[in-house]
Amino acid sequence: MGLLGCHVSIADGIQKAPQRGRDLGCEAIQIFTRNPNQWKCKPLSNDAIDGFQTAIKECEIHAVMTHSIYLINLASGDRNIRKRSEVAFLDEMDRCEALGIPYLVFHPGSYRESTEKKGIRRLVRSIQRLLQKRPNQSVKLCIENTAGAGSLLGGNFEQIAEIREKIGSPDRIKICFDTSHAFAAGYDLRAPEGLQEVFDHFDSIIGLEHLIGFHLNDSKVELGSRRDRHENIGHGHIGIVPFKQLVNDQRFLEHPMTLETPGGDEWFRRNLKLLFQLRE
Ligand SMILES: [Zn+2]
Repeated sequence: MGLLGCHVSIADGIQKAPQRGRDLGCEAIQIFTRNPNQWKCKPLSNDAIDGFQTAIKECEIHAVMTHSIYLINLASGDRNIRKRSEVAFLDEMDRCEALGIPYLVFHPGSYRESTEKKGIRRLVRSIQRLLQKRPNQSVKLCIENTAGAGSLLGGNFEQIAEIREKIGSPDRIKICFDTSHAFAAGYDLRAPEGLQEVFDHFDSIIGLEHLIGFHLNDSKVELGSRRDRHENIGHGHIGIVPFKQLVNDQRFLEHPMTLETPGGDEWFRRNLKLLFQLRE
């Protein structure tokens, strides 16, 4: 049984996020450590860092992931965007380290008018540079699988494995699995053996030991539609059954499983209640 939770807002300060998660019923939370729509941001104060760490313990939040800001694209062919992305990403790594957050989840990016091969090469080099700048950090950089629309990297396990292998540093590069993205990318989690087959496949291509957490989202769009549209659990095309299997899967007992469903806190509460009911 994974550790259940949701993406929690840091609107009133990062130190308030654990209590907010607790109030929603979370065992695990995902947060942004900075405004996801801005390149610039203020450094974290010592009060915020101390407050966050104290609150995590007091609120009994057992696992934390952070999601990198939306603007970052390390695969971009635009030098300027790549440079800004690296600066922001390094800041995200430092924030995780300061806050004691073990997992930084990021999207592998998009190569736009360039080619897949070049996009992967740029992403790999950027990550290698970032890792070299912080050789002693313990935060794991976690590639999130994507719906694979257009020039978006990360839409299949083979490509994610290729990126991981090319970066090197296997201890520092892990994977976060998003159910709605996988489904939209063509991985059918619904059939009776569907979930088992998808994770057997994942294991053979990437290795299950590198999977550190999940985003639990149903999908507004159909299998293989390659669009990124999250839906509340049981209200989309994936349905309840795969989520029941996932939350009870013995292989993922300590894994954070956080919702990124639409509808704000009210729906996080409803979805979480449902997930807890699915536990056996
Ligand atoms: Zn996600």
